[in-house]
Amino acid sequence: MISKERLQKHLDTLAAIGKREDGFYRLAFTDDDWQGRDYLIGEMKKAGLSIRVDAFGNVIARREGTDASADAPAVLYGSHADSVPGGGNFDGIVGTLCALEVMTSLQEDGFANELPLEQILFMCEESSRFGAATLGSRAMRDELTIDDLHRLKDKQGVTLYEALKSRDLRPDELPSAVYTAPAKAFLEVHIEQGKVLEAKNIPLGLVTGIAAPTRFRVHIDGSADHSGATPMGLRSDGACFAAEVILAVEKIASEYGKDNDFPAVVGTVGIVNVTPNVMNVIPGKVTLGIDIRSISAEAKADAVRRIREFVEEVSKRRGIPYSVEPVSDEKPAVLSEAAVNLLADTAAEVLPEAVTLRMPSGAGHDAMHWAEYCPTGMIFIPCRDGISHNGAEHAEIDDITDACRLLEAAVKKLSCKDVTL
Ligand SMILES: [Zn+2]
Repeated sequence: MISKERLQKHLDTLAAIGKREDGFYRLAFTDDDWQGRDYLIGEMKKAGLSIRVDAFGNVIARREGTDASADAPAVLYGSHADSVPGGGNFDGIVGTLCALEVMTSLQEDGFANELPLEQILFMCEESSRFGAATLGSRAMRDELTIDDLHRLKDKQGVTLYEALKSRDLRPDELPSAVYTAPAKAFLEVHIEQGKVLEAKNIPLGLVTGIAAPTRFRVHIDGSADHSGATPMGLRSDGACFAAEVILAVEKIASEYGKDNDFPAVVGTVGIVNVTPNVMNVIPGKVTLGIDIRSISAEAKADAVRRIREFVEEVSKRRGIPYSVEPVSDEKPAVLSEAAVNLLADTAAEVLPEAVTLRMPSGAGHDAMHWAEYCPTGMIFIPCRDGISHNGAEHAEIDDITDACRLLEAAVKKLSCKDVTL
């Protein structure tokens, strides 16, 4: 049976690892990350799981099924355990501990699962150390190359390749980390990292899709002239150009769906660099960093197109040249409707008091890399004030326990060959 006390004990144990004054520092592949990982592997072994570590360090902990045929698809679930600098003890950890607790509970109850079950502990989900997120999942899904391992560096100049070597992992064998076994489904429990569930007082969110950003910089090439000697009509003011673009991003993004809880598109100009940035000079060169997200690839592409057309129009009207530098263009993930339905039905059976809410995820997760591999579902739980990536991050143990009960019940169903998605 799922044990709230056991979940709390694991949370408390991990809360003693990598803790500093302002939060947790379990950055990927550091000593603190590894201490947490070692503890988790020890607990997976206690739950009777066989442990496989791939070339990137992802841990695949397996409970065999009664169907021993090699092509029996496994039911996959799990999350990550690394943190951002000054992060919380719940992001990633909650999903990892729920997966572990399900395995422990099934062993305790002597549950006979027909299909094999695998908990995956993903490495390096957070982008804070190497500037790119969900790297363990990318390695397993063939979206990471050995060149990337040499290219990606942390602030100290340590490459991802060197970090893997330092942990006795096998960066040269990266292609062997690609997951190719048949999978029936992938499930991940995670804190929401937003305020919607808390505001609505709903304990469980069922994720319908995961947004992904398109990012680009707009370099505006205005002219930095004397602020006193240049008449208004003779200026090429880069900041005025930028101001029009900033407001246009807000306006255009707002036009896709009026639901304030779940807007279809969100747009942010998070970087504004003005040069020379002094009081008596007209702003000349200005760089804007623009981030557009949506769970709809079409809506996102449309918003980006309209913003770029607007920039072109301002450039013509003001006579100021500009250039666009693409930064990234990631694909949103649509999660499986069948998986969401199975989770909703299962929640109604095992947690009849609990209301569930179908919702998109604005943040990226390991689950987004599995959506094209097998039917994928995510369970969100509320976190206090929506705070995450911060030492003040907090989720209630009762919510964690409920999510874990839902995960276990869903896994039990999916482990039957005749339950299809
Ligand atoms: Zn996370």
